[in-house]
Amino acid sequence: MTFGPTPLRGIIFDLDGTLVDSRLDFDQMRIEMGLPEGLPILEAISQMPEPRANACRAILTKHEWAGVDRATAMPGVHELLAELRQRQLRLAVLTRNSRAIAEATLQRCGLAFDEVIGREDAPAKPDPTAILQFCARWELGVHEVAMVGDYRFDLEAGRAAGSRTVLYTAGEDLRHLDWARLADLHLPCFSRPAALLALI
Ligand SMILES: [Mg+2]
Repeated sequence: MTFGPTPLRGIIFDLDGTLVDSRLDFDQMRIEMGLPEGLPILEAISQMPEPRANACRAILTKHEWAGVDRATAMPGVHELLAELRQRQLRLAVLTRNSRAIAEATLQRCGLAFDEVIGREDAPAKPDPTAILQFCARWELGVHEVAMVGDYRFDLEAGRAAGSRTVLYTAGEDLRHLDWARLADLHLPCFSRPAALLALI
């Protein structure tokens, strides 16, 4: 009998910047929308009156569809997912993108997931609702599930759910960022996933 931490049985991945690189330029989107630097776009749009909200949604989806055409899978992602499937983990995608765009992106990159939750399906990250829904559907405890992503909203959502959190750093040292401390694990690349696999 072992007394280590509970093994992971489910992993929820962020899409853009984590599974795929779609080179979305959020700063450029904010410029086109007339929004101040750094303001979260979905939350800003939700506060806007029509017709401005509608115009900004059009700018957002224009950029997102352009991202589909550029998207490439991050190095090592295909191999890691094959390994995780072999170990019978539950796998899902949770994105602030729309589900249609997320599914088109995954298809372009040759990535298949049974479950994809987009912004029309549940409150957007950092809200933890979607993570809790996955846990309930999978009949897993929150501590048996990890949220893997490249940004603060991924880690905040994972922490708020009570799940484990993995920051994909794409090889950069992000330890100086205040929110990077919300990650239980920093994973620099998917091609060397030993630290992640050790949680399973
Ligand atoms: Mg991301």
